[in-house]
Amino acid sequence: MSMRPVEHPTIAATDPGLLAAVVAGEARLTPDQGLELFRRLPLAELGRYADARCRRLHGDVLRTYVIDRNINYTNVCTARCTFCAFRRDSTDHDAYTLGKEAIHEKIAQLVAIGGTQILMQGGMNPDLPLDYYLELLSSIRERFPSVHVHAFSPPELIEFVNFFDPPGKDLFAKCRWVLGKLQEAGLDSLPGGGGEIFATPVRRKIGLGKCDAESWLTVMFAAHSLGMFTSATMMFGHIEGHADRVHHMWLVRQWQDRALAEAGRDSASAWQGDTVDSTNSAASSFGHYKAFISWPFQRENTPLGRVRDWGAQPEELSAEFPGDIVARAFDWGRHDEVDYRALGPAAEQFGRRVRMSGASDYLRTQALSRLFLDNIFSIGSSWVTMGPHIGQVGLAFGANDMGSVMMEENVVSAAGTTYFLDEALLCRLIRESGFIPAQRDNTYDLLNIHDGQDSPDLRVKDWSTHRAKSLSRQRGGTSAARESEPVALTVTGAAERSRN
Ligand code: SF4
Repeated sequence: MSMRPVEHPTIAATDPGLLAAVVAGEARLTPDQGLELFRRLPLAELGRYADARCRRLHGDVLRTYVIDRNINYTNVCTARCTFCAFRRDSTDHDAYTLGKEAIHEKIAQLVAIGGTQILMQGGMNPDLPLDYYLELLSSIRERFPSVHVHAFSPPELIEFVNFFDPPGKDLFAKCRWVLGKLQEAGLDSLPGGGGEIFATPVRRKIGLGKCDAESWLTVMFAAHSLGMFTSATMMFGHIEGHADRVHHMWLVRQWQDRALAEAGRDSASAWQGDTVDSTNSAASSFGHYKAFISWPFQRENTPLGRVRDWGAQPEELSAEFPGDIVARAFDWGRHDEVDYRALGPAAEQFGRRVRMSGASDYLRTQALSRLFLDNIFSIGSSWVTMGPHIGQVGLAFGANDMGSVMMEENVVSAAGTTYFLDEALLCRLIRESGFIPAQRDNTYDLLNIHDGQDSPDLRVKDWSTHRAKSLSRQRGGTSAARESEPVALTVTGAAERSRN
């Protein structure tokens, strides 16, 4: 008999009994309750419940990170997402597509520092045939058999289906065919890029040319059906309403229910404590979402970033944010076709005003995701966009994982991110939060528990050398084998404190 936690829609979201049951994995929040918690619970209290849930799932001792490398194999893209500063037309002078040799070189550098996986994503480039991907994957498998290949987000997969016209009676079958080929060649798992916000009105405004939510979720389900593990993401803090964030999490939770049910994991043990997902090598042929990572929109160099902030006009100070009005009319997806122009003057500004996220909004969103996504094992803290120290605080707001040491990142950094950390700094951030840092692999199995004096951070004698360390960012251009351009590490706080 299924022991999935049940919803109690008549109980107030802030009821301590309900929240205690959510923490214990015995009750699940409805979307309305999720929204109420987000809006009404004081930040510290929300964080306290999220932390308790996190500790229930992951214990009190370890918090994890992974060493991987982002490789953006091409910046040529047919889509025109308004939040993107990375894409280029193929005719642009700084358009690039990496060849096998350039990618191999990057992986060799990763392996040299103990890295275990690559996160490989790119634009939707119509000039690349299926053989480009198959040959690339098989060459990586041949040369780096121990490196986990986490690659190709759902929007890329949808474009593969459009470009390659695979056999299959519906989108699921077509995606499954393409994914099967990629898996055979060496693809191990799928990243959750391109999730942004699933709500249709928002997606239509910001994801120009990108797949809709149903397609995104179908790609992931097809990957799960092939036994792959994937992650889900959310990019918030732009034109969306707060309810859209909860709706986004709700869809992830529903599709995760389906995947877990297919995997035969819809049992009491799948919902309690560290057994939500800890059996990574489970003898199931069905995969599921491993992690949820959310981050705020970065505005620099993006068309969406030039949109005016809400509240800049006096009349806006007392008016409801347009995204919230439209989200209410969207009604948790029941009204897909929202005529927002008919919703009054404030709603007419939908898409023309942004509500940027700050630290409190970020932590609140992340904490809610830990409580709401009761069937997702890992919640990642987004230091890449929020900065290392907010990322560190995120470990007290429901996150169990600090993500990756960042050797290279091109997509978010094109929109303004400047945070890069090496392994010692990442370990230090985790240790300063009161946990022992542990390196994990893509399936969240632990590789190294850093509890001894030879730990990466405890070996450091001079933190200033870490401040100055150069990491890499892909330089644009048309060549298939570009050199990487060094960028300086910008984190200073930990280094300053170490001298005191
Ligand atoms: S976010 Fe991705 S899909 Fe959208 S324009 Fe940028 S590269 Fe293309």
